[in-house]
Amino acid sequence: MKITFHGGVKEITGSNFLIEKGGEKILVDCGLFQEENVCDRENLTPFPFKAKEISSVFITHAHLDHIGRLPKLIAEGFNGYIYSTLPTKDIAREILLDCQRVITDNCSDPRIEKIYTLENVEKVFDRWRTLNYHEKFKTNNFNVEFFDAGHILGSSFIRINNTVFSGDLGNLAEDLHKNPEPLPEVDYLVLESTYGDENHENLANREEILENILEYTIRNNNILIVPAFALERSQEIIFSIRRFIKNKKIPNVKIFFDSPLAQRISTIYGKYLDYLNPKFRQLFSELSTIEDDDFKVVRTKEDEKEMFLASPPKIILSSSGMLSGGKILRIIKEYIPFQNTTILFVGYQAEGSLGRKILDGATEIMVEGEQLPVRAKILTLFSFSAHIDQAGILSWLYPKRKRLKSVFLVHGDEKSKKILKLKIMDELAIRTIIPDTNQVFIVEN
Ligand SMILES: [Zn+2]
Repeated sequence: MKITFHGGVKEITGSNFLIEKGGEKILVDCGLFQEENVCDRENLTPFPFKAKEISSVFITHAHLDHIGRLPKLIAEGFNGYIYSTLPTKDIAREILLDCQRVITDNCSDPRIEKIYTLENVEKVFDRWRTLNYHEKFKTNNFNVEFFDAGHILGSSFIRINNTVFSGDLGNLAEDLHKNPEPLPEVDYLVLESTYGDENHENLANREEILENILEYTIRNNNILIVPAFALERSQEIIFSIRRFIKNKKIPNVKIFFDSPLAQRISTIYGKYLDYLNPKFRQLFSELSTIEDDDFKVVRTKEDEKEMFLASPPKIILSSSGMLSGGKILRIIKEYIPFQNTTILFVGYQAEGSLGRKILDGATEIMVEGEQLPVRAKILTLFSFSAHIDQAGILSWLYPKRKRLKSVFLVHGDEKSKKILKLKIMDELAIRTIIPDTNQVFIVEN
């Protein structure tokens, strides 16, 4: 069996692996490059293989950096089938349609608009089939099985013959998602390494820290702004806040959920409760999908007006998570110049993003041509990350350290991969390889 590492190799985004055996060619993931934004030039480069020759694509989960080039695959003549779990397919539809809108509105290059037509997005779903976790699926040359990766709703790691493709693995906190299932008996592992070089601080007491921040906000009549990704982080944070209120750990407070996409995804979460941590299923459906006087989804201009006019204390959740565009910029403009505002970052802030500038201590920022002083209090709580950390990866590998012949590290920056490689070799004595883009490996079958 031959594996070629085509994307998500030198960079975190753009996951794309080609697997070949007996003349059959399949892919694991087909993600968008988003190093700068969705209009990234790299997304225009033709695939280094013939899309027509690919018979199946197996999708680990519905994040854009794992599914975003599927419309391009269709545009280049792909005529096979796409496979994932059922929730992944439902979420992918929301994510790809949203991406199509963003590209149409923001990317000036007509070539990318030509790839990302609504028609191509619809064709993706004509060719999409679903599999359950542990359903045994066979093609001519491959035995395929999906396992719960615990990263976002429906996320999977996938076993293909004697190799596991990890996709993204969830963290080991007690949260909405289950923990990743144990690694099965395989010889080879293609492993994500987003947090290969660090451990999440405060993983055990992150709820307590969030509770303290909320209490401070309410007690001091402040405004708390949480920039959060629409998929997964928003659901976790909203669920935590509403649970604190229900359990009377914090007083009632007005919450504005300024992301219709995130709310649509919450509805999908509510549809697949069986996929969530059994401990929280019932409570999630009561708290996160139903609006009331204190929990408002901002959909219209009128709703937005209400959000801005509501007197503090109030909590506003909006996307994008890195302040790289979208509705949150208006909120930042309105509130960042004031000391009674707190901005809480709960996710990764890429180099060059507005979020990173604020985190790095900028005292003034430019938002849509307007210069603004930063007087808000800036806090972080990265233990809400959806990714496993270094200690988690090592404990996931440990029981299979004698069986594994090689681990290939992908989906991480250079530093993170190098540090994780040393750790795996030192502590577990497993051969560990950092592949180059387009590098080919033959694995025994
Ligand atoms: Zn992901």
